[in-house]
Amino acid sequence: MRRFELVLPGSLDECVKALAQAPADSKLLAGGTDLLPQLKNGLLKPACVIDLSGIPRLRSIEAGNGQGLRVGSAVTARTLELDRAVRANYLSLAESGALVGSVQVRNLATLGGNICNAAPSADMAPPLLALDAEAVITGPKGERRVPIAAFFTGVRRTVLAPDELLVELAIPNPGSHSGGSYLRHTPRRELDIAVVGVASQLTLANGRCAKARIALAAVAPVPVRATAAEQALEGQAVTPDLIKRAADLAVEAARPISDQRGSADFRRHLVRVLTRRTLTTALARAGA
Ligand SMILES: Cc1cc2nc3c(=O)[nH]c(=O)nc-3n(C[C@H](O)[C@H](O)[C@H](O)COP(=O)(O)OP(=O)(O)OC[C@H]3O[C@@H](n4cnc5c(N)ncnc54)[C@H](O)[C@@H]3O)c2cc1C
Repeated sequence: MRRFELVLPGSLDECVKALAQAPADSKLLAGGTDLLPQLKNGLLKPACVIDLSGIPRLRSIEAGNGQGLRVGSAVTARTLELDRAVRANYLSLAESGALVGSVQVRNLATLGGNICNAAPSADMAPPLLALDAEAVITGPKGERRVPIAAFFTGVRRTVLAPDELLVELAIPNPGSHSGGSYLRHTPRRELDIAVVGVASQLTLANGRCAKARIALAAVAPVPVRATAAEQALEGQAVTPDLIKRAADLAVEAARPISDQRGSADFRRHLVRVLTRRTLTTALARAGA
């Protein structure tokens, strides 16, 4: 690994200043579970690494009186897996956190690192899309908010400028009569990355689907929403037949590739199966 300067800011302001002064190829370090392998195998050779571990705001979770959830970018997957407020209203996010790596990895791996690394297979991205989260970003020009669906611009690419960092994810409260679910397929039970991941969120009103969200991972360069499937559900009474139709429509949103972990056809099949399963679970959790 090439030697680098390590900077340890103690606040968000210090971090923004450090980023502004650092060379353009500098990297932020959260849990390091993606970054350190990239440094060790020489994929990245930054002259400066800025460690986020000394910034308390990035590690906080706030679930204020029905106002929604604010999750600091350095909150770990393990915290999301176990946190009561997250499990109560944002269960798909807790489920995705629980699937990352092993317990040892989850104790380091952060939500922000998962999102900013922007791997197409990132497990915590689909629930954020299904929950309509916004990325809160800061930099020398101040703070800006970006809908998470617009945050990813390509494989390992995001809207973040070199002098910006992700502060937190703001997630609206899905409200009562709403339920979500995240499932993925991996050949191994753990320590494997998703061949396909699907998050679904359903909100019911008067026995019908008021809002549907379905988000897919590992079937396109960036996580995608299955909007045709969502539209087929909205306004309707959600029956097993309708779920089956929505699962068929979800396949249309997938643009999978064939690689060593699965063919494009297998991935399309998985989208259909996992969409049906996550919608069925989301419906039950919404209290149907
Ligand atoms: C053994 C193993 C198993 C794994 N299993 C899974 C899995 O099952 N599912 C899965 O999705 N991933 C998995 N991963 C990948 C990784 O653990 C996750 O993506 C993790 O969430 C990354 O978080 P981190 O805090 O370690 O990120 P880091 O490695 O610290 O950072 C990742 C990238 O994000 C940038 N970054 C971090 N925080 C910020 C911020 N606040 N603002 C701007 N940029 C930022 C960094 O500069 C870096 O480019 C695995 C990794 C390992 C080593």
